[in-house]
Amino acid sequence: MITSQNGPRPADFADVRATNLAVVLRFVRENAPCSRADIAASTGLNKATVSTLVADLIDRRLLRETGLTENRVGRPATMLVLDGSPYAAIGIEVNVDYISAVAVDLKGEVLVNWRRSFAGGTSTAAQAVVAVASIARRVIKRMAKEARQVLGLTVAVPGLVDLNGSVRAAPNLGWRDADLCGDLTKALRDPGFPVQVDNEANLAALAEYRFGPHGNVANLVYLTGEVGVGAGIILDGRLRRGGQGYSGEIGHIEVDPGGRPCRCGRRGCLEAVAGIGAILSRTAPDAAPSELELEIDEVGRRARGGDPEILDLLDEVGGHLGKGVAVLANLLNPDVIVLGGYYVPLAPWLAARAEEEMRSRAVAPGGGGCRLEVSTLGYGAAALGAAARVLDSVDSGRLPARG
Ligand SMILES: [Zn+2]
Repeated sequence: MITSQNGPRPADFADVRATNLAVVLRFVRENAPCSRADIAASTGLNKATVSTLVADLIDRRLLRETGLTENRVGRPATMLVLDGSPYAAIGIEVNVDYISAVAVDLKGEVLVNWRRSFAGGTSTAAQAVVAVASIARRVIKRMAKEARQVLGLTVAVPGLVDLNGSVRAAPNLGWRDADLCGDLTKALRDPGFPVQVDNEANLAALAEYRFGPHGNVANLVYLTGEVGVGAGIILDGRLRRGGQGYSGEIGHIEVDPGGRPCRCGRRGCLEAVAGIGAILSRTAPDAAPSELELEIDEVGRRARGGDPEILDLLDEVGGHLGKGVAVLANLLNPDVIVLGGYYVPLAPWLAARAEEEMRSRAVAPGGGGCRLEVSTLGYGAAALGAAARVLDSVDSGRLPARG
């Protein structure tokens, strides 16, 4: 039986009942199917309290009984699983060349997964609000048709997002000081559920933590592989945003003194020498933002064909990437660092070299136990993580009202 070290515990909050409901809900999510007795034994709540809490959660259609019983000494127990069929969480990602939207139910089953091209690199924040609101309305309408209540909407953005959901700077989108959260809430005419905005790397890390194949890892770093490179950091089971929300900006550490110029004005920054731009500047220097995915496919095709020029280039980029990964390994001692974005299709030629470099630079023996893995969630990680953030807020006690 897995017990959570990181979830809310009884008496963490003033509203003890809401907290205890969240404790039970989270326990069932992680351990279903399980009985009321299992919940009592693992959470320390007494059996009568658990029964009342479970009745409330069944009432809210967050849990349901399966009718299955477990063979054990004593009388058979009714087993509980997550329900959540009347609910949905929405995640939307805005990026340089697309907008994507997902909706999931309480269990994380994907209900909607849409992607449309969007000229993020040349659009203003106001134009992005219009586009995001339009796709959000379509998802909300679909959920209404399925008689689902929307629990919340989170938008993922590649940039510095403060704790209020304002985008302070998004260099690859060309935005500064955009109140995306406030403007989107207005555009959706106060939709009656929370609207949040967060950094894409943070949200992709949440997606990997909740839905990725990393077992019970409590310390996970997600590294975006886009034009920019950023890290989402989960330590001891919690996303670490830092004082103002700007943690994880690893893209501008210097890994190759005198290397390629970076858009920040310096040279040899991690994202200048190991971001996707470092590869495309040599293979397709004139590629438009909308062609990035195509051009990366072409790089993969040439690598598969054994093109020595491409293999050398990817080896060099993998080495630089490993230097950045080593900084994360030494600084944070994560159990796993997940490579995302465009690193995924290029991983067969990047990852081994990067891991070798990381291990050679790690101070702790064996890299401190840190594994380098490749995301299985692909390009959709940030949008999925945006929906996961909504589910996380349910886990930590913001439960939907009784229907
Ligand atoms: Zn830089």
